[in-house]
Amino acid sequence: MSKIPFVTKEQVEAIAANYKTPFYLYDEKGIRQNARELKEAFSWNPGFKEFFAVKATPNPYLLKLLREEGCGVDCSSYTELLLSEAAGFGAGEIMFSSNETPVGEFTKARQLGAYINLDDITHIPFLQQECGIPETVCMRYNPGGIYELENGIMDNPGDAKYGCTKEQMVQAYRELMGLGVKRFGIHSFLVSNTIAEDYYPTLARTLFTLAVELKEQTGAEIAFINLSGGIGIPYKPEDRKVDIRRVGDGVRKVYEEVLVPAGMGNVAIFTELGRFMMGPYGELVVKAIHEKHIYKEYIGVDACAVNLMRPAMYRAYHHITVLGKENAPKDHVYDVVGSLCENNDKFAIDRELPKIDIGDYLVIHDAGAHGYAMGYNYNGKLKCAELLLKEDGSVQLIRRAEQPKDYFATLDISDMMKPYLS
Ligand SMILES: *Cc1c(COP(=O)(O)O)cnc(C)c1O
Repeated sequence: MSKIPFVTKEQVEAIAANYKTPFYLYDEKGIRQNARELKEAFSWNPGFKEFFAVKATPNPYLLKLLREEGCGVDCSSYTELLLSEAAGFGAGEIMFSSNETPVGEFTKARQLGAYINLDDITHIPFLQQECGIPETVCMRYNPGGIYELENGIMDNPGDAKYGCTKEQMVQAYRELMGLGVKRFGIHSFLVSNTIAEDYYPTLARTLFTLAVELKEQTGAEIAFINLSGGIGIPYKPEDRKVDIRRVGDGVRKVYEEVLVPAGMGNVAIFTELGRFMMGPYGELVVKAIHEKHIYKEYIGVDACAVNLMRPAMYRAYHHITVLGKENAPKDHVYDVVGSLCENNDKFAIDRELPKIDIGDYLVIHDAGAHGYAMGYNYNGKLKCAELLLKEDGSVQLIRRAEQPKDYFATLDISDMMKPYLS
């Protein structure tokens, strides 16, 4: 089994004539098509909307593209709100799912007409004091305990810092109704990066049942239920892609079983997917610049964990294709490494690959979400450019590579650094 990059060697060579590696490349066609499939899968629900988790890929060009496909955004910080504002998102198109929210951020969210998703009951007076209570409020739920799907334990919400208990949900709704709230939402995020197709339907059953209880106990009008993020992608060649149509149908069945009989057939379903929307449609393109033969075989590339942290941080698997050698036998075993002074800076460990020569271009797959976004500047390494491969085959620069002046920008308080700031 193999994974096929969305670019060829010839395309990368042409791009590299204008933009130095490493760079991120995003696939407009794939992003749009996938967004349409998601929308289609939930088209049975008239209020359905996906709020893309900005933290996964915070680039305004990509956000705009998703907006054109009918998506909103999910923000959790002040700068994510600013980015969304810049990309044209307005009232009803922003979910603000923050936690431990700093002072001032709710004000900005309200100013933009965002849905406020409160992580805790104690945030009610905090919100009230800061900017008043809006007419619609969402509360984040944490069922506690362990969360099981058909094929076993998925996660441990009882250990997670997010959301409130069932008793607190009831209490929060009552309190908020007393403060004039007219419509409510329910949100919960229990499992990350799962390709189990029963995750959303199982979560939906938990939240729909809770919604019926909340309505019965408080009389509150539930306007939407936010299934949040967590749907995974096939990082490994043997993983299968989630059939989003089946997921949508699964949620529909539970909706018709639980909500419709309770007279709640007008509740909108929201999602807040990040990885699923963007992960497969971003690739990190790097070049082999060194080889090393000691106790193991190493290939040094021109990117490092600063550009893609997931392998170093989670030992995450990212598939690698050596461009132009797609059909060559994988008869070498390499560690593919970056240049940080950190031994965990390895994009692949003991990976079977074709023989790699200096100058070969490597595609690191599935880097479109939680990839560039998690970048940092350790070792004084600079972040690379982001490019968009458009549907017509042309390439657009959507973020330039950092330069030393960017790294020093916050030292503009010092005369010492002046020569390096322009
Ligand atoms: C991270 C996050 C998401 C997106 O998660 P993915 O795993 O990328 O789908 C959605 N909602 C909230 C509140 C999050 O923190």
